[in-house]
Amino acid sequence: MKKIVLISSILFALILGCRGVKNAQKKNHNSISTTKITKPNVIVIMADDLGYNDVSFNGSKQIPTPNIDRIANEGVKFTNGYVSYSVCGPSRAGFITGRYQQRFGFERNPQYDPSDVNMGLPQDEKTIADRLGSVGYKSGIIGKWHLGANVKNHPLNRGFNEFFGHLGGGHQYFSNMWTIEDSYAINTESQSYRTWLMRDHKPVDPVTTPKYITEEFADESVAFVERNKDNPFFLFLSYNAPHGPLQATQKYLDRFPNISNKKRKTYAAMVSALDDGVGLLLDKLEELKLDDNTIVFFLSDNGGPESKNASDNGILRGAKSSVYEGGFRVPFAIRWKGQIKKGVFDKPVSSLDIMATAVALSGAKTNPAKPLDGVNLIPYLNGEKKEQPHENIYLRKFDQKRFAVRNNEYKLIVIKGRKELYNLENDISETTNIAKESPEQVKKIDEIRKAWNKELIDPIFKGLVHLKKKR
Ligand code: CA
Repeated sequence: MKKIVLISSILFALILGCRGVKNAQKKNHNSISTTKITKPNVIVIMADDLGYNDVSFNGSKQIPTPNIDRIANEGVKFTNGYVSYSVCGPSRAGFITGRYQQRFGFERNPQYDPSDVNMGLPQDEKTIADRLGSVGYKSGIIGKWHLGANVKNHPLNRGFNEFFGHLGGGHQYFSNMWTIEDSYAINTESQSYRTWLMRDHKPVDPVTTPKYITEEFADESVAFVERNKDNPFFLFLSYNAPHGPLQATQKYLDRFPNISNKKRKTYAAMVSALDDGVGLLLDKLEELKLDDNTIVFFLSDNGGPESKNASDNGILRGAKSSVYEGGFRVPFAIRWKGQIKKGVFDKPVSSLDIMATAVALSGAKTNPAKPLDGVNLIPYLNGEKKEQPHENIYLRKFDQKRFAVRNNEYKLIVIKGRKELYNLENDISETTNIAKESPEQVKKIDEIRKAWNKELIDPIFKGLVHLKKKR
C-alpha cells in the first residue's frame, strides 16, 4: 500500500509540477489553525453495506459521489480503515461503545425481539452518546439503530437526546410499505422493515413522511444541525442505504442510463441519493459556519455484500461477513477543516477510534474497568505521533470459528484451525497464502490472536442466524 501511495504521490507531483506541490503544501500548512477547539461537534455518517470501491474517492468510475468525496478530499482518506466486525449489528455495537463488541458478547446480528432486553447492547456498556452527553453534548441518531428493539435499548435510553428512524436492521424505502404502527408489537425481521418510523418514542404517521427514506433522513440531519448549532452536538447519521431491499426513485435511477444491470443500477441510484444527502448536510455546516468546529466521519458499517446488493469491493477479496479484506475494510474518511491536514493516511485505523477521538477532544471520562480499544486519531493525522495507531487489527467470528489478525503488513486468517498468511503490502487481494513460507510470522501472530481471544466472551444472545429456517 505504501508503495502505491508513494507512486501516486510522485505521479501527482509530476502532473502538478514542483511549484504546484509546494504551493499546495504551503496552503495546507497555512490552513491549519493554531486555535485549539474544545468540544468540537462530531458527526458520524454511516452507510450500510456500501462496497469499498463504490465511492469515487476510492476509485469508483461508475458511481460519482462528489459530496462524500468532499469529506475525503477536504480531510483525510483512510486507505486501511477497518470496522470491528463484518456484519451490521456487531460492527455498530463496536463503533458505538469504542470497544471490541466480543468483549461483551454482541457477536451476532440480533433477532428483532422487543420483549427481550438481552437481545441488544448490554445495559452496562456506555455509548458514545452517553459519554459526550456527560460533558454537555446533545446527541441525535437519525436512521438505523439495530442495537436492540427492547425499550430499554431505545436510543433515548442509551444516551441519545433525539431519535428519528427505525429500530431494526433495515427498512423499506417507501412509506406506502410502512403498515405497522407500533414497533414494539412485532417480533420478526421482515415485519421490522415495515414499521412506521419513530420520532423519539412516538410512531410517525407515514402520511407525514412521504419522501424516499434516504431523503427523509437527509432532511432530518439538516434540521438537527440547525436546532443544535449553538451547543456542542453529536450526530449519528445512520443511513440504511444501500442495504437491501434495493429500491430507488426514478430521479436517482435516471442518473445511471449506462448501467444495464438492474440491480447494479438501483444500487447506484441508492448510493447517489445518499451522496446528495451528505451534500445537504455539508452545505448546512458551511452555511452556519460550523466547518472548523465540526469533525465529520464517513464510513460503511461493513464491506459490500456484492452478490446481494450488487456492491463492489474492488480489488479486495471477499464481501460482507468475510474475514478477508472485503468483509471489514471499508470506505472511511474524516474531515476537520482547519484542524487536520488534507491527505491520505495509509496505516490501519479502526471504527473504534471514533469514540476514542471524540472522548479525548471533548474531555469526557471513560470507565477504566471497560477500557476503549480505539485511539485518538488526531495526533496521528497531524504528525505529532509518527508510529502506527494500532499494532493489531482484530476480527473474530465465533459461530464460523474464524479469525483475522492484521499485524503490520501481515494478516493471519484462521478458519476452523486452518491458518493462512498474507502480505497485504504486496498482495492486497489476498491471493497468495504464504503461511508455509513464513512459519515464524504465523506463530507470532497466532500468539497475539490467542492472547486477544482470552479477553473475549462467548456471544450472549442468539442471532438472526438461528432463525434462518423460520424466516
Ligand atoms: Ca451493514
